[in-house]
Order: sequence, then structure tokens, then C-alpha cells
Amino acid sequence: MASSTTTRSEALFARARAVTPGGVNSPVRAFKSVGGTPRFIREAHGAYLTDMDGARLVDYIGSWGPMILGHDHPAVREAIAQALQGGTSFGAPGEREVELAELVTRLTGAGRVRFVSSGTEATMSALRLARGFTGRKYIVKFRGNYHGHADGLLVEAGSGLLTNADGVLGPSAPSSAGVPEEYAALTLVSEYNDPVALDALMARRGHEVAAVIFEPVVGNAGVLVPTPEFLAALHRIRASGALLIADEVMTGFRLSLNGATGLLGLSPDLTCWGKIIGGGLPVGAYGGRAEVMDFVSPQGPVYQAGTLSGNPLAMAAGLATLRTLEADPGIYDRLETYTASLAAGLRAAASEAGVPLSLNRVGSMLTAFHQDAPDGAVRTYADAARSDTAGFARWFQAMLARGVYWAPSQFESIFVSGAHTGTELDITLDAARAAYGRVR
Ligand code: PLP
Repeated sequence: MASSTTTRSEALFARARAVTPGGVNSPVRAFKSVGGTPRFIREAHGAYLTDMDGARLVDYIGSWGPMILGHDHPAVREAIAQALQGGTSFGAPGEREVELAELVTRLTGAGRVRFVSSGTEATMSALRLARGFTGRKYIVKFRGNYHGHADGLLVEAGSGLLTNADGVLGPSAPSSAGVPEEYAALTLVSEYNDPVALDALMARRGHEVAAVIFEPVVGNAGVLVPTPEFLAALHRIRASGALLIADEVMTGFRLSLNGATGLLGLSPDLTCWGKIIGGGLPVGAYGGRAEVMDFVSPQGPVYQAGTLSGNPLAMAAGLATLRTLEADPGIYDRLETYTASLAAGLRAAASEAGVPLSLNRVGSMLTAFHQDAPDGAVRTYADAARSDTAGFARWFQAMLARGVYWAPSQFESIFVSGAHTGTELDITLDAARAAYGRVR
């Protein structure tokens, strides 16, 4: 049950603000676009977070994606505990790195994979590799896609950058102070789901482009689903000699064992992973065609390194997570069934309360945009921006008060885990029926 007090969270937030910018270690956690005090979390098990005041909350963030098995899954916990017996970091290669690389290459068809410690490092390194391999400077990204916080990628970016303090759309390129215009100038921006614009950009500049990087299903402008025409245009970019980089940091191992790429029949040159691949510990990875990956040092001339890369505890958590998923492929059907029921229930509850919603969903990723476009009609960053963010914020707070922790921004996906059952669905939909009544 939700506790009605947030005293301890408030006290911790005050202490945190004195010693950490904004009181948090990643911006969206501060609740800036929805208001109120962020809940400080004491522990997490299965589908629930417990906050510092003792409130038990049904969790739809899943640590922003990694916790596909639910929190504190026994197989992951045991694998970490076992790895811990052998020490925490070697700075030299170990067996688990080889095992995880073998598993990832087998599941995804990548020729080689290199482990790093975050999704940001994965995309940053993949782009350096593409530039080294092609000998070209420019990259192309899409408006509202988020690929981590490396300089050249904070250009028209999504996720926390889509909301400022007032919850409205933030500034355009570059998306952050401190990114020199000269860096941003090397990033060409096109509109997601606009094949005509992409074809035109590549016709004009394609000979200078090292890579086109994209979220195969977008989670960072809220969920956006690629159209078949856009996917075809993405494949055409290779005629110019540019590499296609799928950023599967969010979708990898979430939408299928071969991510969104497998689901959509895409064949990128390089793929970036993060989140689930580390089972809740810090891991990122990039991989793909062997002839491209062999440009990475020490095999090739493109430098990339990491003190904690291939960390034994993180590898153990990733291995246990991916092995559990592979041993139970039915989990993807169960996630689909739960999230489809959640979507149907939200639609019914909103419609009963007269609140317009437009739902986008792929598997266990879902965004309910507060706007009156038909389901599936929100296809671009500009479409997403038409949402009623103030209405969303009121709904978010009403859900939280009823024990349901939704993503604290209109422009994010929620994530369902294998630990969510009919009980959590009932709690969520009861809360949603009450919460939509408070939105108008
Ligand atoms: N790429 C995508 C698609 C993401 O969603 C994220 C993070 O949310 C990143 C890259 C960056 O990953 P990290 O936060 O681990 O650096």
C-alpha cells in the first residue's frame, strides 16, 4: 500500500541537493517535469519498489529498462554472489567476458562484441569506430532519439532533454550547454519516420557521412514505432558507404532475444547495447560485422579502453539475465499479454473519464500520450510534443499517490517485467481509473 507521507524522501532530497547538482545523479529522477519530491528508494524486489517512508510501489521504470526479470531475481542475485567470492575486478581478462561475448554474438548474429560500462560509452565508441573505418567525419541522428550524453550526440536529443523545468519541449541543437557548436556541426539531424527527408539528406551529404545512428523503436521521445517506409530508407543509406548503427541500448533483449532489430528484420552494421545486457549492473557493449569491429584496438587503429570493462560481477549479472531469458523464451509472450492488457485497460479508463490518450506500444514498452491523436498516430518528435504535459503530470501524481510508480515524464517509455502479474495489473488499473478522473 502507498504510504501517505514522504518525510524521509523530503529530508534526503534536501541533504542531496546540498551535495549533488539538483539532488540526483541523473536528471529525470528529480521529477522536474511532474513536480513534487522524488521518492528515495530503500529496496526493490520483483515488481515493487519500497521507498524510504515504507510505501510499496508497483514499478514501471525497471531502472529505466534493465530489470526485465524483475528486481532481485534469484538467478541474478546468486550469480553476483558467486562471482563476488572471486574478487571484484581484475584489470585482466576473465572467463565470464568470453562467455557473455559468445552468448551475445550467438543471440544477435554480431561477428564481434566489445564490452564497456554504459550505453553512452557504447554509442560514443561505435561512432568513433564508424569514423575510423570510413574515414568520414559526419554522423546522422534523428530528432528526439537519445543515445547517451557524449558531446556529438547531445544534438536535438530525447529523454530528459525533451523536458525543461516547465515540462515543455526544450531547446534544439545543441541540446546542452557545454557542447561546442563545432562538435554539434558534425551531427546532421533528420526527422524520425520521414523517409523523404532522410533520402534527401543522404543524397546531398551521404558521401561525407560515417554512420546513421537510430533507435529502432524509440523510447526516448516516448515510444515511437518506425514505419516500414522509414525502415526501407534506413537500409538505403548504405548505398552511400555510410554504416548503419542500431542503438539497442533500450530495446536489446527487451523486445526479443535479438532486440528490435530481430523483430523488425533489420541488419545494421553495428549495434549498441546496455541496460539488460548488464542485468542491473553497469554494462554496455557494441558489436557487429567482424571486419568493422577489427578496427578496434588492439586489433586495429581505433582506440577504446575501460578500467572496469568486462567487470566480473557485471558480466555475471548479464550472463544470468540473458541465460534466464534464453531458457524461458515464453517470457516475451507473457510481457506482450500483460502490456497489451495494460494498454487496453488504460484506454478504457481514460475514455470513461473523457481524457484523450494516444497509445504507442511495442511488446513491454508503452507510452500513453495525453493527446487526442488516434492510437499509433504519434510518429515523430513533433507529434509527441503536442501532448498535454500538465495533464500527464497530474495523472502521474495521482498514480503515485495510489502506489503506482510510472515514468516521471510524458516523453519516456514504461517497462514491464516478468515479475508483473495479474495482481499488479489490477492495482494499476484501479489506480488509473481513479487517476484519470482527476486529470481534467
Ligand atoms: N541509448 C539509448 C537508446 C538509451 O535509452 C540510453 C539511456 O537511456 C543510452 C543510449 C545511454 O545509456 P546510459 O544511460 O547507460 O549511458
